[in-house]
Amino acid sequence: MLNIGLGVYRTWPEDEHGQSSAGWRPGLSDEEVYEAAKGRWKLGVRADRERYAVFSAMDIVVLAVEIDHISGPDPDGRRTIHGAILKPGHPVYDRYVGSKSQVGKSQNPVQYFDSPFDHTDCACGCGEEVPSGRDFLAGHDQRAIHDRVKLVGGVLQFMDWFDATWPGAEPQT
Ligand SMILES: [Zn+2]
Repeated sequence: MLNIGLGVYRTWPEDEHGQSSAGWRPGLSDEEVYEAAKGRWKLGVRADRERYAVFSAMDIVVLAVEIDHISGPDPDGRRTIHGAILKPGHPVYDRYVGSKSQVGKSQNPVQYFDSPFDHTDCACGCGEEVPSGRDFLAGHDQRAIHDRVKLVGGVLQFMDWFDATWPGAEPQT
């Protein structure tokens, strides 16, 4: 899970990145925190594999977001997190928001920590967990394919079925 540390709240006239605030102070709404916190971070490819981001201020988690995508980088290497603000009742919100941050003090505001919420079930249906950003355990994608081939009867039958079903390369309207 991504943890981004926020500094003191400050505002400015909206800049070329569409941002006009940064940091955190007490009393902000979740939406105001998100607006100030989402943008202009130096995030590597590791961040693209993360499912959630939490934002902390003074060592306390103040916002949790389910990441949809991370845009950028801008020419200066900075990127912006786009996602849904999590609310009470969501397990990630309930576990982290208002609690002590899971990462130690660092000069770098961008840190990562292991969380059970990062893991999702393997898409093959085996019920085992896979790390964040992956769909299958090693080899389970093959298993998922072969299970389906077997259902249709064999590779030849699968090909016949696929060719009859597949709409082709034309874009679907
Ligand atoms: Zn599996």
